[in-house]
Amino acid sequence: MSESAVENLGYVRGQIEKAARGAGREPAAITLVAISKTFEVEEIRPVCAAGQRVFGENRVQEAKAKWPILRAEFPGIELHLVGPLQTNKTKEAVELFDVIQTVDRAKLAAELAKEIQKAGRAPRLFVQINTGAEPQKAGVLPEDADAFIKQCREIYSLEIAGLMCIPPADEAPAPHFALTRKIAERNGVKLLSMGMSADFESAINLGATHVRVGSAIFGSRPKVA
Ligand SMILES: *Cc1c(COP(=O)(O)O)cnc(C)c1O
Repeated sequence: MSESAVENLGYVRGQIEKAARGAGREPAAITLVAISKTFEVEEIRPVCAAGQRVFGENRVQEAKAKWPILRAEFPGIELHLVGPLQTNKTKEAVELFDVIQTVDRAKLAAELAKEIQKAGRAPRLFVQINTGAEPQKAGVLPEDADAFIKQCREIYSLEIAGLMCIPPADEAPAPHFALTRKIAERNGVKLLSMGMSADFESAINLGATHVRVGSAIFGSRPKVA
């Protein structure tokens, strides 16, 4: 299984490179975030050994159980939080993650500002946009994005490095990627985390700087709610 994850990694890297060249972009401008949620340290280790250094997890507790072990073995790991962050886990998240991609409300921004100050360590922050306005999904509504980014910057003195979106599962993703890019451009936000296993090529075509690829590398996950 882990051998195939390493093979899959090589394949995904090739596809990213192809998509980048097809879009007239440098492959090096796209960061592959390998989403290792639900997979065990033993399954992730070979992927680290194959040279992958940027990973994403969706739960603070799970990341805390797995990544200190792998960080001790592999220098230069960059860990992204791609799942919703509860305010009572902000302190742990600031200590554990290098990038938090899911900033989406004032209360969380306030907590992050406080914990970053205390820790003297600042993860890079992305604002999550709920481009499909799905009630069950985290993220700021597109129409509230400009005001929220301004609030993060001016009220909480947070640097917003990027935007992230997860298009609705049953819709064509391209319009959601395009909308996210438009919001980033008009707010002077540089990085774009968009595209997953099924649609990272389209996301690269529309300007993604970070693609979040899980199952295409690690295989399918057990279905969870
Ligand atoms: C699980 C997850 C991914 C990876 O999805 P795949 O379809 O397995 O590539 C990407 N982004 C987020 C936010 C996720 O939770």
